[in-house]
Amino acid sequence: MNDRKCWNDHSGMVLHSAEGFDVIDCESCGFKHIIPIPNEDELREIYKHDYHVRVKPLMLQHQLEDQSWLDATNEARLETIERMLGKAGKFLDIGSGNGFLLQTAQKRGWTVKGVEPSYKAAEYSCSQGVDVSCSTFDSECAASLGKFDVVHLGDVLEHLPDPTCMLDLCKQVLIPGGLIAIGVPNEYTPVQKILTEDMNFRPWWVSPPHHINYFDKNSLEKLLEQYGYTSIHSEVSFPMELFLLMGRNYIDNPDLGRECHAMRKELELNLTKSGNRKFLDKLYECFAEAGMGRTVLVVAQKNK
Ligand SMILES: [Zn+2]
Repeated sequence: MNDRKCWNDHSGMVLHSAEGFDVIDCESCGFKHIIPIPNEDELREIYKHDYHVRVKPLMLQHQLEDQSWLDATNEARLETIERMLGKAGKFLDIGSGNGFLLQTAQKRGWTVKGVEPSYKAAEYSCSQGVDVSCSTFDSECAASLGKFDVVHLGDVLEHLPDPTCMLDLCKQVLIPGGLIAIGVPNEYTPVQKILTEDMNFRPWWVSPPHHINYFDKNSLEKLLEQYGYTSIHSEVSFPMELFLLMGRNYIDNPDLGRECHAMRKELELNLTKSGNRKFLDKLYECFAEAGMGRTVLVVAQKNK
């Protein structure tokens, strides 16, 4: 398991292997990713025909069931961004999915634009009154969009064969001093390590070729600093793997997964509706301090 492997310019210790891929702690990139890295053509096919249809067939249904929680989560995220920007300006969501964040942003006074490779998701977004193009965000697309105050990428960076190329493209569409907000799964957390190393769990979060890169707060911030941004804020979401430690093994049980998700939703909605969102934030800061959190969001400013 602890071999060293090289592939093209990438090398590091092998952390896990699955589906013919190895996850390495890449010394040249400064974050963990699989090798071999699939090429753009292979991935384009996966996302166009496969991702929203096969891997996440219930995503829209679940999002609609979760709408009040999703709206509260998106409101909080936008509030944080508005506080840092000082206003609601022009907002670009890359990989905007079904467009829920854009809808909330639009209601809060942002001028919004989405770019989404899945035809179904883009079509649904447009039907809900937000401006979303069905496209991958490449240099041609970037050149056609104009400039934005904020670029948001939620659950995008972990899927990309070259995340550095994406960070460069985002700089092209951001005004000087504009903000980039990146949300990714937080992987190789202390609890994940306990579960796999000491409790015989398989590394369930390793899922090539869909998940190519495996970030945490530090590696994401470091990457942003290397590519012309200054990190100014980070936050995490509820560490779902705590449920595994509590004996609720949702890994191969989607129904139980929804139950655990419902409990997390309840916690957040109870604290939000009772006017205790600040306490919730404080709680999650403590999780972040301990390296925990299912996802991590980093907001960074484009260097002037
Ligand atoms: Zn690498």
